[in-house]
Amino acid sequence: MALIKFDRMKELMDIPRTAETLLNNPEKEIKFSLNLKMNNEEIICFDAFVVYHNVVLGPAKGGIRFSPYVSFGEVRTFAEIMTYKNALMGLPFGGGKSGIKFDPYKMNDFTRIAIIKEYVHMIKEELNSGAYIPAPDLGSSPQDMSIIYGETHRPETVTGKPVIIGGLPGRLQATGRGVSHAAKLGIENILKKDIKKTDVIVQGFGNVGRWTAYFLHQMGARIIGLYDIGGIIYNKKGLDIEKLFKYAPTSKDSIKGFPESESISAEQFFSLETDVLIPAAVENVITRDTASAIKAKLIVEGANDPTTAEGEEILLKNGIHVLPDFFANSGGVVASYFEWRNAKSGNQTCEKEVFELIDKKIDTVFWQGMEARKRLKASLRESFFSISLGTLIEAMKARLWI
Ligand code: NAD
Repeated sequence: MALIKFDRMKELMDIPRTAETLLNNPEKEIKFSLNLKMNNEEIICFDAFVVYHNVVLGPAKGGIRFSPYVSFGEVRTFAEIMTYKNALMGLPFGGGKSGIKFDPYKMNDFTRIAIIKEYVHMIKEELNSGAYIPAPDLGSSPQDMSIIYGETHRPETVTGKPVIIGGLPGRLQATGRGVSHAAKLGIENILKKDIKKTDVIVQGFGNVGRWTAYFLHQMGARIIGLYDIGGIIYNKKGLDIEKLFKYAPTSKDSIKGFPESESISAEQFFSLETDVLIPAAVENVITRDTASAIKAKLIVEGANDPTTAEGEEILLKNGIHVLPDFFANSGGVVASYFEWRNAKSGNQTCEKEVFELIDKKIDTVFWQGMEARKRLKASLRESFFSISLGTLIEAMKARLWI
């Protein structure tokens, strides 16, 4: 199912039929199997997927997901989100994504490395030509990107690498940095609230969730609820994020049982009295059921595709604002762009500069979105989509694709 509702978007802007056709059809889809012969004569096979949604603006850029649940359909949706995200942020990239179906939390290092090397072997043409540039996503880490680099030997073929081997200082925190900055802009300019008097709940304490919570905590917001795959914790006075970093140092470690908190259920989490809810774990968590219970006034989508169409309808009816994924979580790909550019030019960028670049991009695009919302009298998601679509249509015309 296409992510974007073209019938609705056509009420707001002029969209050539040819552009709609191209944007409704992913350009390239590859499905393959990673087969590993184990010591005990067993063979294990892992499904893998790569999708380029639309590459009119440049090579397909998007993370690689390791999950036992990843499917072709999911990778398609995420590649599509990347097309609109890269266009919105003005980056010279198209939309891509890949996935390998395995549980990274249950895999030893030896097998994990073997899986990644086999993945590179199977799509070496895509990687070496620069047609697809992966980065970390759900379940994958900078170390995994370093294995990809170890196979291609070219730093520009993958971003999100550890800093010591050509990664960008600040790339690790970049997505959370952008989500927190988007949240700050939303809190101050949509909710018209002082961030120091704002309560926030975050689903996910992996890469995106933990850094989002960290930066918002630094800005003075109170993080009163956190939710990961192992448990859900609540403290109405605010959770100490620095202590939580020590308690659950990696995405694999759970926040469950954190001493200065009480354990709550998923139903209680979504219905907490809070100003902001940040889903930063997995997709399809704000559904028809959860949406009706939500008391937050602003949702900032840290995860990709966390809100279903029915969920969003209920949120909007209840006057809840949604800063969409392809805007709010774009800090990671903005940083990836600088890492990729540095890999080609030999330039270096320090962490402070990276954070400033992300904040500045998010600021500029936030105000473009607010202007489009006022002009079109549309939802925030539709307003940001209109900007991405404008860029994509212009680029397709420039390349005589339409
Ligand atoms: P991660 O693997 O580092 O962390 C995932 C977190 O989600 C963990 O805390 C895990 O416990 C939790 N989680 C997993 N399944 C869950 C479930 N069913 N219910 C509740 N919690 C669950 O992943 P990440 O990189 O932080 O990615 C999170 C989301 O952000 C994904 O949607 C991803 O596509 C998106 N995203 C990531 C980046 C990035 O730079 N890493 C960039 C843009 C968007």
